[in-house]
Formats: sequence, structure tokens, C-alpha cells
Amino acid sequence: MLFCNIDLLDEQFCLHRNRYVGVRDGQIAYIGGIAPAEDYGERYDGRHRLMMPGFFNVHSHAPMTLLRGYAENLPLQRWLNERVFPFEAHLNAENVYWATQLAIAEMVQCGTVSFTDMYFECQAMAKAVVESGIKCNLSRGLTVFDDSAYEQLAAYRDNVELLRDYHKKADGRLSIDLCIHGEYTSSPKVVKAVAAHAKSAGVQMHIHLSETKSEHEECKQRHGMTPAAYMESCGVFDVSTTAAHCVWLEENDFSILKKHGVTVACCPASNLKLASGYANVPEMLRQGINVALGTDGAASNNNLNILQDVYLFALAYKGYYHDSTLITPAQALAAATSAGAKSQGRANCGALKVGNRADLCIVDTDTPQFTPMHDAACNVVYAAQGSDVKLTMVDGRVLYRDGAFQTIDIEQVKFEAKRHTGQILSAL
Ligand SMILES: [Zn+2]
Repeated sequence: MLFCNIDLLDEQFCLHRNRYVGVRDGQIAYIGGIAPAEDYGERYDGRHRLMMPGFFNVHSHAPMTLLRGYAENLPLQRWLNERVFPFEAHLNAENVYWATQLAIAEMVQCGTVSFTDMYFECQAMAKAVVESGIKCNLSRGLTVFDDSAYEQLAAYRDNVELLRDYHKKADGRLSIDLCIHGEYTSSPKVVKAVAAHAKSAGVQMHIHLSETKSEHEECKQRHGMTPAAYMESCGVFDVSTTAAHCVWLEENDFSILKKHGVTVACCPASNLKLASGYANVPEMLRQGINVALGTDGAASNNNLNILQDVYLFALAYKGYYHDSTLITPAQALAAATSAGAKSQGRANCGALKVGNRADLCIVDTDTPQFTPMHDAACNVVYAAQGSDVKLTMVDGRVLYRDGAFQTIDIEQVKFEAKRHTGQILSAL
């Protein structure tokens, strides 16, 4: 495909007007100010359109779409124990498959090209990822509340099967990570064993870290160290790790994350909605920690439109730390794109440049919110709506265009999602 006369945001999120972008074999093969001599197939009229790198949503629980709006205005423990856990007890491979399709539809409709997810019934989730054309780093959520060894857990068997059947599959779109849900939902023995498994398998880790104050303080009482120091002592950070939330980090925790190249998956909407607090993102950025963005699950957001998290990320810390110079639009967009690609271990992804994978989205700029366009990055960060996205492409394949899903039967997905939700509610 050849995009003609299109505006685009480069690696520094600076605007270039009226460019030609040629996509071939899943890659960006040409960017220039004049039409290339080669034939790239279909010509896309890019007038009044802005091309940018697609978004990476690096912390989600996709099947929680079925719980959207089901658990509201409750303290975290009651939210979990009274609403989320009883509902989740009724999830199975079939309803998780449809719930994941629904999540993927919502993500690609808002320009997301890849997500990092932690849940269960991962075989069904992997099927949805493979069929939809999106990219994903998928991990099987692991919790253990007794003295079991890792190898005795269902999660161990699932991890072995997932690594065998799905790691680096679908032309590399799908990667399998290993997971510790959190310090407070596991035992040191199992955390160490999972970390060793990830190391020997050569895969990444995905964890929750210091999301709430109580979780953070109880870890210090239990182990005499912060969750970050605890995970480091168990060897988790010996492999590339994405740590969600990191709201309550202490001084030494920042250097631990920096030392091991841990990515923080910042989830501003979820942190605000569940009243977890404000992560010290300015300090993370000052110390050079890779900060990426996640929506978290639809039960705690309640949407998977990462542009809303970009907006909150760009605003919340200015207000909380009383400094309007914190978090530039370019830093917010980098968190949602290149930092996410880095966290997923995906080379040649996350920026518009020749040789990179053609993972991109296009927004309509012929709208009030894009008029005028003094600085296109500012329009995207502070003014754009998810519905401004008109095209989402992954590895050169169009997944969404002008309201139409190319790989997902959206009517069937909505029907099945509602049907399965009704079944679960009637069984509760
Ligand atoms: Zn989470």
C-alpha cells in the first residue's frame, strides 16, 4: 500500500507534511516527499490524515471486558472479593475467547497494534490473537495461596503448553511471557521457580508491583523489603520484566528498576479509578526508566482506548506534582509507542521509519479538535478522541478501516459477549 500526501509524526513526534509512505512485506519500505518509482499497490489518499506509530498497551486483562461496569465505586478489596472473583469463577475457554475478541476490537478501533496481557484460559486468548492479526505478549496469571511447588500448579502446565504451542508464533506476532501476579498473591518459593523458568526458557516476565499502599507496606512487614527489592532478590529481574503500576516505589526502588532495565507499565486511569494513587512518573523519567502505558482491564478503567490513558498520563502528574512542565506530549506519545515496543522485546517496532514493521494508525485531522494544528503531537495528546482513528495496520495488514473491522465479525462478537455475560449473571 502507498499512503499519498499524508502528514506523519516522526520518531521525535515532529510533524512532516505531505509525505509518501510505502508499505511492503509487512515493513515500512519508503518514506519521502515525492512519490516513489516502485509500485506499492493500493494508493491511499492521505489528505487531511495524520499517520503515527500504532499504540502498545502494555498492561491489560483483556477478557475483563465482560466485567465492564459490573464492579463500581467499591474499595479495592470489596471490588475484588464481592464482584470480580465470583464473576471470574464462571469464566471458561469459550467466554474468554469472545471477551478477548471484544477487547481486541476495542483496541484496534482506537489505534492499538499490540498489547501485553495477563489472564487465564490463555489458549483461547491466543486463538483470538492469532485470528485477529494484532500483536500480543501473553502471560498466564499465576497466583498461589498455599505451600505448593511451582511444578504442582496448573499454571506451570499451562506455561509449558503455551511456550510449546504459541511462543513466537503467528509470524512472531504472539509472544508468551511468564507471570507472577504479585508479591501478595504468591510465595517466595514459587516466585523464584517462575523466575528460573523464564530465564531457562529465554522469555520475559510480567508482574504487578507496588500498586497499592497496603500491598507495598505488607510486603515490607512480611519480607523486610519493598516489593521491588523482593522481586529482585527472587531473580525476577534477571530477565526482561514489565512491572505494572509501581505507584508506591521508594527511593532505592527506582535504581533497582533502572539497573535491571525493568519497564514500568503505568496505568493512570486504573490508578485513579481504584484510588491507588499517583505513580512518581517524573522521577522514573528523570532516572531513565522505560515508562510505557497500559489501560489495565476494562473492569478498572472502563475502556481500552489508550488515547484516554495518554491524556491522563500527560495531565495527572503535572497536577499532582504542581509543575506544568512535567511530561511533554512527546514523552506521553513515546510511552504509548516506542517504550511499549521496547518492553515487549520487539525490535524494529514502535516508530515510523524505513525498515520498521508497518505497525501504524491514521487519524482524521479534518475535525474541530485538530484545527488548528500548531503542534500535531499536542492535538493527539490533549484533543484527539479514539474515534478519530480511521485505520489501524499491523505488520502491513489493515485490521480496521473507516469503522469496519477486517478480521473480526464485530456483530457476532458483541452478540456472544452479551449472551455469555447474561449466562454468567444468571449463574451467580
Ligand atoms: Zn492489572
